[in-house]
Amino acid sequence: MSKVAMVTGAARGIGLATSKQFLAKGWSVALVDWDAAELDTVLPELGDQAAGFTCDVSDAEAVQMMVAAVEARFGGIDAVVNNAGVAEFGPIEDCDYATWKRVMATNLDGPFLVTHAATPALKTRRGAIVNIASISGLRASTLRVAYGTSKAAVMHLTKQHAAELGEFGIRANCVCPGPVKTKLSMAVHSPEIIAAYHDAIPLNRYGSEDEIAALICFLCSEEASYVTGQVIAADGGFEATGVGLPALRE
Ligand code: NAD
Repeated sequence: MSKVAMVTGAARGIGLATSKQFLAKGWSVALVDWDAAELDTVLPELGDQAAGFTCDVSDAEAVQMMVAAVEARFGGIDAVVNNAGVAEFGPIEDCDYATWKRVMATNLDGPFLVTHAATPALKTRRGAIVNIASISGLRASTLRVAYGTSKAAVMHLTKQHAAELGEFGIRANCVCPGPVKTKLSMAVHSPEIIAAYHDAIPLNRYGSEDEIAALICFLCSEEASYVTGQVIAADGGFEATGVGLPALRE
């Protein structure tokens, strides 16, 4: 029987790349997204082992129903990838309470609610959780008070998942992507920001969706069977550096 991954925010970007890599490894995949139209566009090319589930991950009731539907379709869940996320980009004084709540609802409430609903299923299969945070949660930067704070909280949520669910054989890890050219990042990365990232990243480039997906799939696999409670950046070295890189390049 094939293993089953449930990936949120799977209709495009990092979530879609992750779903494709799971499928290529013989897993079945529940692609969860609130964008039904985008799910409908990608599903036909993914084959029988993929199924789409339209759900807003910040809606507790909808999440319960979605997880039940995934279990009914596939018979269980071996891995949950909490990838759905939204970005906000603006000065801290312009981040009103409605914006703050909107970002927290998807980025923080979502991983809590989805994992909470899937925990009984994960216990049965001694499954794995991977939460997607960001380098914006590892380091503060300008124009993203709600986004960065939500991602820092996701790192701690991951450690709570690892601490409290470990005795059931459930592992939980967190992936912090560096910049990847997706719809989310391209909506907020200006040419100046793209240049600044290149300057600040030892590998001197953006990552690809597939480079992030490979780490996610590894953390869900048996090969990572003793890895839990970890926050791992796939960021071209961004987090490791301090001052001096741009000067070195000149
Ligand atoms: P994306 O915008 O391309 O894809 C995100 C998907 O999540 C979309 O399909 C969207 O419809 C879905 N989604 C958003 N809110 C949802 C909700 N409430 N319920 C269900 N689905 C929802 O973004 P991406 O760049 O692929 O980002 C994926 C994850 O990676 C996010 O958590 C993001 O914060 C994180 N990340 C991205 C980058 C980057 O540079 N692209 C960097 C660091 C972290």
